[in-house]
Formats: sequence, C-alpha cells, structure tokens
Amino acid sequence: MVFIYLKEVGIMKITEDIDTSKYFCWNPGCSEHNKKNQGNIKPAYYDGKDKEILYLKCTICNKTFSENKGTFFFRKKIKKDTIVKALKSTSEGQGIRPTSRIFDVDKNTILSWVKDAGNHSNEIEKIFSEFTTKRSSG
Ligand SMILES: [Zn+2]
Repeated sequence: MVFIYLKEVGIMKITEDIDTSKYFCWNPGCSEHNKKNQGNIKPAYYDGKDKEILYLKCTICNKTFSENKGTFFFRKKIKKDTIVKALKSTSEGQGIRPTSRIFDVDKNTILSWVKDAGNHSNEIEKIFSEFTTKRSSG
C-alpha cells in the first residue's frame, strides 16, 4: 500500500511515495502485531540528525516506531550512505583507523558497526549488493 506523505524541508514541501508494505506493528500487545499489509501502518514523521529516518505509526494501537527497527541501522545516528560506504571500505581491507579518518567517524563507532555487521551478515550482504546496483545504474 502506498501513501503520499508531505515532508517539510524548510519552506519546501516534498511529496514522495512511501511504500509501507514492508513494515509492521512492533507492539506485541497489538492485534496487528508482526503482520504486514494490514493497512494499519502509516508514515508519521521524520527524525534523526538529518531528518532522514522515517517513523511509522500503527493506526490500531497508535504506537510509533522507526523504519530501522529490527535492522542493522536501528539506533545508528549516522547517515545510512556513510555507514554502508565505511563498512564497504573495511570489507575491502581498509583498516579501522584510515576508515575513521576518511569518513570522519570515530574509530570506536566504525568498530561497533563492523561487529554489528557480523550479527546482521545476511542483511549487510543484501545492502551491499543493492548499493552496488544503485551505483552502477545511476
Ligand atoms: Zn499496533
């Protein structure tokens, strides 16, 4: 299901299509918990450092949650693009310290991403391949 959502950037309004079909309600007490495509998930607002993290709301229980919940990116405050590039860099053999300098991200943060990527290896593999496809086609 696709909803039109207005994102306010300064005085500019951007209309974009948001496909909510991949999201579901995370509230275990909700009747629609863990079910996709029930029509109960609506875009709520953007938040995060660069206002790029979408928050969604369940219309049944009124709980909101981050689009990143349950994913590698949950609670990470740095842009996805930067995280993916930095991880790719380390996976190509670049050390933690040079990666830290190149992307201007604390080395301990990079280290935590690398460790966390190990726990989400299937997801990371998918992100890397999508990222590569996007780059080569764009
Ligand atoms: Zn709910």
